[in-house]
Amino acid sequence: MDTYDALLETITPKSGPTREILDPATGAVVGLAPVHTVDDLDRAVAGAVATQPAWAARGHAERIATLNRVADAIDAAAEPLAELLSREQGKPLNGPNARFEVGACTAWLRATAATPLEAEVIVDDGQTHAELHYRPIGVVGAIGPWNWPMMIAVWQIAPALRMGNAVVVKPSEYTPLSVLALVAVMNQELPAGLLSVVCGDREVGARLSSHPGIGKVMFTGSTATGKAIIKSSADTVKRLTLELGGNDAGIVLSDADPKAIAEGLFWGAFINTGQTCAALKRLYVHDDIYDAVCTELTAVAETMPMGVGMDEKNVLGPLQNKAQFDIVARLVDAAKDSGARVLLGGNPSLDQPGYFYPTTLIADIDNANPLVMEEQFGPALPIIRFTDLDDVIAQANGVDVGLGGSVWSPDLAKAREVAARLEAGTVWINGHGGVHPMIPFGGAKQSGYGLEFGVEGLKALGVPQVING
Ligand code: NAD
Repeated sequence: MDTYDALLETITPKSGPTREILDPATGAVVGLAPVHTVDDLDRAVAGAVATQPAWAARGHAERIATLNRVADAIDAAAEPLAELLSREQGKPLNGPNARFEVGACTAWLRATAATPLEAEVIVDDGQTHAELHYRPIGVVGAIGPWNWPMMIAVWQIAPALRMGNAVVVKPSEYTPLSVLALVAVMNQELPAGLLSVVCGDREVGARLSSHPGIGKVMFTGSTATGKAIIKSSADTVKRLTLELGGNDAGIVLSDADPKAIAEGLFWGAFINTGQTCAALKRLYVHDDIYDAVCTELTAVAETMPMGVGMDEKNVLGPLQNKAQFDIVARLVDAAKDSGARVLLGGNPSLDQPGYFYPTTLIADIDNANPLVMEEQFGPALPIIRFTDLDDVIAQANGVDVGLGGSVWSPDLAKAREVAARLEAGTVWINGHGGVHPMIPFGGAKQSGYGLEFGVEGLKALGVPQVING
C-alpha cells in the first residue's frame, strides 16, 4: 500500500453493489465504495464480539506496542493516504490540510498509546480499600463526519482499541474511501475482525446506534443526528460521546493588535475551508479597532490560494458536497440581502467545475442575521462590531451550542476573565481551534457531551469498576 494505485486497489470492492465517489473539486471519479447493508453491519459486529476478548486479554502493554506499530504503518503509507484524502474530501495536500491530517492520525495514535492510566486508590484508611479501575466496554461503534474523516476516525478508534475494545466504524457516505483506506493500513497490524468498516447510509448508522451488540457509540457530526442517536441508543442504554456542531464566537478586545492577530484569525476561521467543527464562525470586534481588523484580515485572506487540492500551491479547497455549498450560498445571500458589507468574496463562479465558494468576509452585519446565528460550515465569516463587553459576551452565549470560543488580547488576565464567562467547552486565547492529544476536548450545551483526548478520553472508552475490599 505504498503507492496510491496499490492503496486504491486494496479498498476497491471485488464483489457486491458499489457507488462512485466523485472528487468535489473536479467531478472526476475517485473510486468505488461498497454499499453495505444492515446485514453487513450485523456480520461486522459479530466479528468484533468474537475478537474482542482476546484483544482485551493482551493487556495495556501489548496493546500500546500494537498501536505504535499501527502508527508506523500509517507513516509508511502517509503520502498515498493524503492523496486519496485530498481527492475525496477536496482539501489540498498542502497547508493545514491532507498531509497535516494524516500526520495528526499518527500523532494521536502515539499519544493515546503513551497516556498512562493507572488504577486509582480512592480510599485506603486501614478499614476500607477501594480502587477505581476501567474495564473494556466490548464493541464500540464509531460514526464520523466528512470534514476530517481520517483524523476523527482515529480520535474514536485509538482510545477504544487502547482500552481493549473492538470497533466498528461507519464513515460518512461522502468520504468512505478515506476511512476504508486508513483502516486497511491499520489492519496490517491488528487482529482480523477487531476493527472493521461498514459503509452505509443513515439507515446503517441508525442500526449501529441501536445495535444490541454495541456498548458505546462515539459520534461526531451534526447536532440533529446526535439527537437521533440519543433516541435510537436509549433502549440499549448505550454509553455515548457526542461531538456535535458548533457556532464558535471569537471576541477581539480593543487592545489587540490587528496586524499581529490577522493570520491567526484567518486560520481560526478558514482551516479546512471553514469546514471544521471548532472553527471561528462569528467574529466580534471592538469598535475601536473594527476597521483595522477588517483591513488586515482581508489582506491576509486575499493571499490564500484556493483550488484543486492536488496542486501544491493551494491551501484552500472546495466545499465537500453540493448540500454544504448550498448552505453557505444561502447564508451569504441572506447577509448580502440584509445590507451587510462584503469585504471579500460572496460571488461564486458557477461556470467552473467543483463546489468552490470563494473566501468571504462580511462586515457590518447584524447579530440576528442567519449567517451569524446558524453554523455556516464553510468559507464565509461574519464580522460583528461591538462596544460593550457585557453585551458581546451575551451575544457570544446567545446560541444553543457551545463547542469552542476565543478571546484576542495581549492582556492575558483580562482575556482569561472573559474566557471564563463564555459558555463553551474550550476557549482559546489569541488563537482558535488548536487541539492537542493530551488536552481534553468536548462541547457544552447542544455541542454534545463527553470528553475526547488525554486520560479523560481513555476513561470514556472504559466502564468504571470499583473494587472494594
Ligand atoms: P451528519 O450528522 O450529517 O453525519 C455524520 C454521520 O452520521 C454520517 O456518517 C452519517 O451517515 C451518520 N448518520 C446520519 N443519520 C444518522 C442516524 N440517524 N443515526 C446514526 N448515524 C447517522 O454530519 P456531517 O454533515 O457529516 O458533519 C458536519 C457536522 O459535524 C457539523 O455540524 C460539524 O460542526 C459537526 N462536527 C463536529 C465535530 C466535533 O468534534 N464536535 C467535529 C467535526 C464535525
